[in-house]
Amino acid sequence: MNATSSAAAAALPSDIVQSPLPRLKITEIFTSLQGEADAAGWPSVFVRLTGCPLRCTYCDTAYAFHGGTWWDIDDIVAEVRAQGVQHVCVTGGEPLAQKRCLILLEKLCEAGLDVSLETSGALDVSGVDPRVSRVVDLKTPDSGEMARNRLENLPLLTRRDQIKFVLCSREDYEWARGMVLEHALNERSMVLFSPSKGQVTPRQLADWIVEDRLPVRFQMQLHKILWDDEPGR
Ligand code: SF4
Repeated sequence: MNATSSAAAAALPSDIVQSPLPRLKITEIFTSLQGEADAAGWPSVFVRLTGCPLRCTYCDTAYAFHGGTWWDIDDIVAEVRAQGVQHVCVTGGEPLAQKRCLILLEKLCEAGLDVSLETSGALDVSGVDPRVSRVVDLKTPDSGEMARNRLENLPLLTRRDQIKFVLCSREDYEWARGMVLEHALNERSMVLFSPSKGQVTPRQLADWIVEDRLPVRFQMQLHKILWDDEPGR
């Protein structure tokens, strides 16, 4: 266990970290439309794992920090298949904070599903099954969690993956623009810029991107437009 994962484990409820069984603590499994990233608009099953070691200022899934229900991994896969859609998104919380998430991702791929993973970017993504599309956040200064960015992840990402910034201010935008250009992120993966609701208007962010001719993809969070922040949608 490296220093980052030690910190993650320490910040999670002890029953999540210590289970000896092939199971995961799950907040919810539901079918909705994928609201973000390359798969936006597809009907998708969401598997939301419980727990997160971060505390972003704009977090809209704080209800997943605690609680949850233990599920055997094979039962999760069966439930996902029973939902009858091709896309599945493993999310959180921070799904990788539960190490057996890697087993779940592999089994979902083996079931022939199109699998994506939404992760904070604070934990190591190198063990994720290569068939999975990894959507990796880079946390901005105004998220309050910039120090948790695991920059060692960046060279591991490919065209199959996506790098996501949620922007809270003009300062965040300028920082993110600097990261894209300094690390040539757009040459590695699709880069997504998203406005933090109530802090940057979609119009402002769109204007900044166009003005700078920045090679990133603007995105709105579809599920928030459709259903606001209602859990399970
Ligand atoms: S990483 Fe995601 S789930 Fe965790 S605090 Fe940040 S926004 Fe919330």
